[in-house]
Amino acid sequence: MSELVKLTFDGEIAVITVDNPPVNALSPGVPEGIKSALEEIIVADNIKGAVLIGGGTTFIAGADIREFGKIRNQTRESGSPILPLILFLEDSPKPIVAAIHGTAFGGGLEIAQGAHFRVANEKSLLGQPEVKLGLIPGAGGTQRLPRLVGTAKAVEMCAFGEPISAKDALENGLVDKIVEGDLLAEATKFIRQVIQANKPLRKTRESRDKLGDEATNAAIFETAKATAKKIRRGLNAPLKAIDAVEAATKLSFEEGVQFENKLFVECLQSVESKALIHVFFGEREVAKIPDVPKDTPVLPIEEAAVIGAGTMGGGIAMNFANAGIPVVLKETTQEALTRGMATIEKNYASSVKKGRMTEDQMQKRLSLITPTLVYDEFADADVVVEAAFENMALKREIFGALDKICKPSAILASNTSTLSIDEIAAATSRPEMVIGHHFFSPANVMRLLEIVRGEKTSKEVVATSMKLAKRLKKLGVPVGNCRGFVGNRMVEPYGREAQFLVEEGATVEQVDRALNNFGMAMGLFAMSDLAGVDVGWRVREEYKHLEIAGRRYPIIADKIYELGRYGQKTKAGWYDYDENRKPAPNAEIAQMLKDTATNAGIRQREISDEEIIERTIYALVNEGAKILEDGIALRSVDIDLIYINGFGFPVWRGGPMFYADTIGLEKVYQKVKELHEAHGDWWKPSGLLKKLAETGESFSDFDRRKLQTATAESAAN
Ligand code: NAD
Repeated sequence: MSELVKLTFDGEIAVITVDNPPVNALSPGVPEGIKSALEEIIVADNIKGAVLIGGGTTFIAGADIREFGKIRNQTRESGSPILPLILFLEDSPKPIVAAIHGTAFGGGLEIAQGAHFRVANEKSLLGQPEVKLGLIPGAGGTQRLPRLVGTAKAVEMCAFGEPISAKDALENGLVDKIVEGDLLAEATKFIRQVIQANKPLRKTRESRDKLGDEATNAAIFETAKATAKKIRRGLNAPLKAIDAVEAATKLSFEEGVQFENKLFVECLQSVESKALIHVFFGEREVAKIPDVPKDTPVLPIEEAAVIGAGTMGGGIAMNFANAGIPVVLKETTQEALTRGMATIEKNYASSVKKGRMTEDQMQKRLSLITPTLVYDEFADADVVVEAAFENMALKREIFGALDKICKPSAILASNTSTLSIDEIAAATSRPEMVIGHHFFSPANVMRLLEIVRGEKTSKEVVATSMKLAKRLKKLGVPVGNCRGFVGNRMVEPYGREAQFLVEEGATVEQVDRALNNFGMAMGLFAMSDLAGVDVGWRVREEYKHLEIAGRRYPIIADKIYELGRYGQKTKAGWYDYDENRKPAPNAEIAQMLKDTATNAGIRQREISDEEIIERTIYALVNEGAKILEDGIALRSVDIDLIYINGFGFPVWRGGPMFYADTIGLEKVYQKVKELHEAHGDWWKPSGLLKKLAETGESFSDFDRRKLQTATAESAAN
């Protein structure tokens, strides 16, 4: 018997316990262990039936994701290695019940589908989340699940990957009973009753009752595909999952499984799956900061304060209230405060209307936000987030005031987009308590939170901020202090190239369309109109003194600003907007762009979509590599997470740095070099990009090396 699977007996009932903490993943050894337990049970005369259960707090929560990388090059002609185990289980002459608690996901749920019966405790979750990793169920799940729950439910579960509750599972026939109390005792009782009643042993694969008729199914598949194309734009796995379920309705079980396997292998080898697995592990790595060990003490956060109830401050206050943390929200005038609170109420009311929260919950959250015009209530705050105007003098004044009022253990955070945390910290007598908490707009919705470390920020403040990010349901990514940190520093060259491209002859719509087709949630110009053309202008003004003489400057963006076209807020920017904020190109603006270019002596030409993608995306990559070189981001995957969660970069491309890896850094570097020769110093290639390209390495290799060094250093200390 394998160490990972234990076989025990309770009278004539055998208990197979998968014991592979923390989640009882199907690591090598687990399927073999289950198989040999079954073999023993089948030949044991005194054993009449068995319970299959997970040790600890969960059933089998799925495959061991690290294994996918290892099998990627296999063609799996004979199918999933788990398939024979499931067949063996299903064919057992003695009844088997899967006893589910915690989560039964992926391969775990596929095994449970092979059991003759399933019981679950009320809180358990069941799902086929493979699509979230760019895969489809690969051990018969797309064939057995529709036989248990019907086509529509199987499509929903396999194509969208969301888990269902035990109650939902019971209603749809995926479990036979919800049990209360001790799961093992209840499951044992259940199987004894089965034996006593001599119930027939159902083999899921032999049943076709729930597979539905062709006409109904056709509509189900069509609707699901249309939804997937809309809400999972660019992703292939959801479409393949639908095809596989469709095969269950049209082919025999054996043929269906073969078809599923073919699609699974295609998924496994796709960039999409590699990218999604890269992101999956990235999200788990991101909290690891080499010099801030796991056991770094954290400060308690029980009360918060926010300065500024504008676009950002209101959303930030909502984040605290949503997490149950009371928050004081300060403004300078009653008018601004009233407006800010009204926006918060409107946002909550809209969630109530959409059924995402109850009226009670809304009132409770609102009661946690205390509007104020004075600093009086700041003395108890454990964390203050400043979201006043983007102006250094103002921020220094505010932090000077906070230094006098706040308790010594309070974290003083700024939501600045570009300004130096060190300069802000220098306005206080406690720079070690100052940090950047850079939320993204809308702050109550966007998942990204850049945690900006100043030169003197203490490790406790960093560790507490990372923990707080989790409590606020944000993805905290640690970044260093420089102009724009990671996200906004990279968006500058990206936007600049887009603007140069329209000066050179591309149209605004063409650039946005090309970026959209590439997978970006929004084109650059639509994004600029949303954020505000004036915001970009203000940033350029703030840093104009840093411009290098003779360097090309994006003149067109200033022209749009000078026309008072600030974007959506003025109903006109790069585009015109109607009441529904639908953008439309403006012919006069197009002409103005042409004239401006001609006057500036810029020759306009035909520009291909390919050039648009290379110039905008490689600008991101080159700057990202410089950010790594400067140590502003710890790992390339951190940059990827920032771009996916804060800037709408397509997750199925894995982020800009992973995308560059898939193109090959040698090729990317050559192109950057060419662009440098053609367009001048903006395109100076990053030293790191050059080095990696020359040694045939990738950004992922860079991350791995960094991890090894950090592990070696922490072992040495
Ligand atoms: P905003 O103009 O919408 O809001 C700023 C608010 O701060 C105003 O209501 C103003 O009355 C108030 N304020 C100014 N001085 C104050 C003081 N001393 N005490 C209390 N309130 C004061 O600006 P915003 O877009 O919310 O930006 C706020 C900060 O967040 C800026 O530093 C900005 O760079 C940063 N930021 C903005 C975005 C964005 O997309 N808007 C994204 C990330 C970060």
